[in-house]
Amino acid sequence: MFAQRLAQVSESATMKVAAEAEKLRRAGKDVVDFSVGEPDFPTPENVKAAGKKAIDDNFTRYTAVAGIPELREAICARYLADYGVTITSAEVLLTFGGKQALFNSALALIDPGDEVITHAPYWPTIPEQVKLVGGVPVIVHTGWEDAFAVHADTMLAAITPRTKAIILNSPANPTGALIDESTVAAIAEAAAKHGIWIIVDLCYEHLIYEPVPHNLPRVLFEKHRGRTVLACSASKAWSMTGWRTGWTIAPKELTKVFNTIQGQTTSNIASIAQKALIAAVSGPQDAVAAMRDEFRRRRDNIHAWLTAHPGIRCVKPKGAFYLFPDISGLLTDSVPTSTDFAQALLEKEHVVVTPGEAFDAPGYLRISYATSMERLREGATRMLRFAETLQPKAGAAR
Ligand code: PMP
Repeated sequence: MFAQRLAQVSESATMKVAAEAEKLRRAGKDVVDFSVGEPDFPTPENVKAAGKKAIDDNFTRYTAVAGIPELREAICARYLADYGVTITSAEVLLTFGGKQALFNSALALIDPGDEVITHAPYWPTIPEQVKLVGGVPVIVHTGWEDAFAVHADTMLAAITPRTKAIILNSPANPTGALIDESTVAAIAEAAAKHGIWIIVDLCYEHLIYEPVPHNLPRVLFEKHRGRTVLACSASKAWSMTGWRTGWTIAPKELTKVFNTIQGQTTSNIASIAQKALIAAVSGPQDAVAAMRDEFRRRRDNIHAWLTAHPGIRCVKPKGAFYLFPDISGLLTDSVPTSTDFAQALLEKEHVVVTPGEAFDAPGYLRISYATSMERLREGATRMLRFAETLQPKAGAAR
């Protein structure tokens, strides 16, 4: 009945958990929700004011498909300030969030049967979008043992004559891991040799908690500028998820193709959101710093609280706002998988977490710390209480 291309594509795995949590909430239960993928802070005041002003000024009509010139210039200025890279407006196109930035890239670059290499645990949209356009995701797994590091050799070992693109996500959802500049450089060099595109999802680029080198735009532009796409978003940095603001930075010729795709589908992003985004990228950045500081405090606390339990081991994430603990040490004969664990935790303690299976990483949980310290404390207490009720599997290694 429906188009063939949908046969391989899954619905968002978090939907099911969210629906069950909603059911409990409606039944009057005090639900602690650790599944949210968006900052809990309001959009900064100056950004909201710019949006309101846009309405009052009647800035409410179609704009150029790629976005208004002053916004594209403001984005170029932001990247010059943050990374020291020179970008021209012709390389920038505004999208409905990072999601559309990635989807435009998939539509523009991937033919049916093309392989696209990415790393797991992954944000599910990445492989699902590849499948939507008929491509074949090739997954390179990373693990807890070395902090979910992406290694150039394993990524490059996955290259075949059918490889069209490599998608990287750093900081990563769900692990919070960063990809080293040297790894990106090695991947870019090999990609340049093979004519493979690199798409980097930089949606969490402003949520990095320690001052570590992470100038991926510079590294990629030096090595492989002709075939690099940066897929970016204001959603997380400026707490603007509902405004739907993202952008691509890509070679001019590809940006023209994005223009054609978007011109025949969604056209320009909301004119009002564009004015708000100018304020976000060019105004004072102290709201971003304040959110980052608060996220860092929450990360440190929730990490300490949960890892106090010997059955939970967890790398301290370097970015984004998720903890990704390995809870395989807590699994039992009656709760044998992380999906069962999440389900039982929801039923018994009304705590919502996303099981690792959603990210191709069974045995783990994703815990979003985009919620107040008080709710984090409450949720951690309930999780630990639940863990205490589990009988370790006979002969379990840990
Ligand atoms: N990339 C990653 C890794 C994400 O986690 C998200 C949001 N969950 C996005 C991109 C896209 O977000 P948006 O479309 O709101 O920019």
